[in-house]
Amino acid sequence: MEKAPAKINLSLDVLHKRDDGYHDVEMVMTTIDLSDRIELQQLPKDEIQIALESRYVPSDERNLAYQAAKLFKKTYQIPNGVRIQIEKNIPVSAGLAGGSTDAAAVLRGLNRLFHVNAPLKDLAKLGSNLGADVAFCVYGKTAIAKGFGDQIEMLPSPPNCWVITARPDIGVSTRTIFERIELQHLQHPDTKKVLEALQKRDFYQICISLGNALEDITFALHPEVNRIKNAMLQAGADGAMMSGSGPTVFGLVQHFSKAQRIYNSMRGFCEDVQLVRILG
Ligand code: ATP
Repeated sequence: MEKAPAKINLSLDVLHKRDDGYHDVEMVMTTIDLSDRIELQQLPKDEIQIALESRYVPSDERNLAYQAAKLFKKTYQIPNGVRIQIEKNIPVSAGLAGGSTDAAAVLRGLNRLFHVNAPLKDLAKLGSNLGADVAFCVYGKTAIAKGFGDQIEMLPSPPNCWVITARPDIGVSTRTIFERIELQHLQHPDTKKVLEALQKRDFYQICISLGNALEDITFALHPEVNRIKNAMLQAGADGAMMSGSGPTVFGLVQHFSKAQRIYNSMRGFCEDVQLVRILG
């Protein structure tokens, strides 16, 4: 079994638009204990099967896990097939990199299953062909991703703390949000401050340095996301921010009793609320 954990963004900045249409980003991300589970099984024939029960995620070649297996088999010339069973626990189109982490887990898992023993950096490079968050998810933990998301530098993990995630019952398409970017209007986060805070392992500095250049765009389209963020702060979170392009909002808290209070209070406010640890 390969665990495929979700990520949250401690910062997300968009630097500029490249000639190929993609944006250069700078994202500090950490991993949380909210995971999909992937079982991989070798098949004698050259085929890729996906077993998955989800109303929201396709179980054919559109699935990122399928695409990861196809790319891995081609790159390392694996003649056998594979059956990929996915237990989906990460909400879909939520800003938590659910698809990317499944793809990354398939790359890691097949690397073991077929005894390829490729280093993580090769798997990350391969994964970056599938999506901007896959390279980060190959490593997990805490890191900064630059370029198109393909350049990864590992960072110290945040101090132990609790994460409350909350989201409205909507999906947000990352592409829709990126299409609406007007670079001159973005509120850029202070990435340096987040990096400094992580180096010092200073929980409160991390909390006040959180920043996401996409928040205003998602808030304008879905004001309920902003309301959830305000509710999270009002309930007592030491820091709160939207993850990725949303709509998930997370709150950070150091003490479990306070985290539980916030969790209960957010449950009265929106449907999907989780209380998890940082795995970073
Ligand atoms: P990110 O934070 O990386 O932008 P996200 O968490 O917002 O991603 P995902 O949950 O990865 O979004 O889903 C985005 C799209 O990818 C959806 O349209 C979904 O159908 C598709 N998809 C393909 N494969 C998967 C998968 N294994 N799990 C989830 N979504 C998948």
